[in-house]
Amino acid sequence: MKITFLGTRGGFPVGGQTSCALVEGEDGSFVIDLGSSRLFEKTEWIAEADHVLLTHLHPDHIAHLASLLIARLNTPGVEGDVSFVAPEAVQEYLDFSGLGHIPGWCQLPDVPAEWCGFTLEAMQTRHPRKNKAYRISDGHTTLVWTGDATYSEELSAFCAGADVVVCEASMKDCNLGNAIDWGHMTPQLFARLMNEAKPGTAISTHYTELEPSEFTAAMRPLLDASIKFIAAEDGYIFTTQ
Ligand SMILES: [Zn+2]
Ligand SMILES: [Zn+2]
Repeated sequence: MKITFLGTRGGFPVGGQTSCALVEGEDGSFVIDLGSSRLFEKTEWIAEADHVLLTHLHPDHIAHLASLLIARLNTPGVEGDVSFVAPEAVQEYLDFSGLGHIPGWCQLPDVPAEWCGFTLEAMQTRHPRKNKAYRISDGHTTLVWTGDATYSEELSAFCAGADVVVCEASMKDCNLGNAIDWGHMTPQLFARLMNEAKPGTAISTHYTELEPSEFTAAMRPLLDASIKFIAAEDGYIFTTQ
């Protein structure tokens, strides 16, 4: 499995772009969230974005949703509809934006068990808007992508034993109460989740209050030494053998 992180900021695009990544497996690929304009830098990425998994419909995760549909209609050689898997109706969002008539996409009615060469499971996290964490396997690597979430025992159980967990890293520990109220992680909550779930590799993304280096400095001493940790930044590429 290969994960190309195109945007790793949460909330607003200062210091980088907001949430977006390309996930490639043995038999397929998809894009998760649409917060980064870097997706439009390569025609093959626009073409590859015919399967899109959305964690939720907050702006930092869907800022370029309509742009992707328009780009695909206007990019020579790019054909076929975009297939969305999302926890809420993409049509309602496009209707609200006055763009409900744009063709070239569909949304699956639920989270399919098998999708473009991967198996999928989902659970709803604690976040103000309906957010799905996804557990994804290409038959070799199991990846959990939390989207926006605060710690919960349910999320910890959902992540348990995964090879890779990509988790958000929004807030500072001094704002722990706000983080829980607003459905976000802090270094302390991130470490608790990982220490319980024990993935092979823990990856942070979605930085809002802390730079990646600051998040690492605060979180790393709290994390079990057996868990490999990577602070993803824009452009980082993770690969498993
Ligand atoms: Zn977010
Ligand atoms: Zn959110």
